[in-house]
Amino acid sequence: QNLSIRDAVPAACAQIQDFPKPGILFYDVTTLFANPQVFRRCIDELTERFAGTFDIVAGVEARGFLLASAIAYSAGTGVMTVRKAGKLPRDTYTKEYELEYGSAAIEIHRDDIPAGTRVLIVDDLLATGGTLAAAVNLMDQAQLKVAGVGVLLELEGLGGREAIGPHLVESLSIVS
Ligand code: AMP
Repeated sequence: QNLSIRDAVPAACAQIQDFPKPGILFYDVTTLFANPQVFRRCIDELTERFAGTFDIVAGVEARGFLLASAIAYSAGTGVMTVRKAGKLPRDTYTKEYELEYGSAAIEIHRDDIPAGTRVLIVDDLLATGGTLAAAVNLMDQAQLKVAGVGVLLELEGLGGREAIGPHLVESLSIVS
């Protein structure tokens, strides 16, 4: 409770050595989401850091949805879902991005949100930035204005911040 948010976030995550493969320290946020004090602090902190700068919150499937929904409720905005490819029933903008093995794609509906709307994009964790850079690209395609990117945890030294380019990135905690 007395920990700074920077220390509280990794402390609230279960940390699993060698998952999903040797050499990776996996930060599991399910324990953070289940912790009422830390979850609330994270939502309040992200809402505050971007206060007044966004009209809607976009969450990246799936863990980002939980953050986006709570921040949007707290800020009194709407929420949008950045979905994995193939889930959305109407015309979409799509962006493929590289994973360590192979590639993935994420999508948003065209025409759901008016051009120029200011979007805060959130996800649980920033590693290489591939996922969040793809989310930024979707907003660009839709002519939405990226207010910034917010994450609980940033893994330092993987180039994530750089991948997101000129946009404001707020991480509640940075670990190396
Ligand atoms: P990236 O596109 O490389 O920034 O990775 C983004 C996603 O991969 C995050 O949203 C996480 O869900 C997951 N991820 C990558 N590395 C880790 C890690 N060390 N611990 C937990 N999740 C991770």
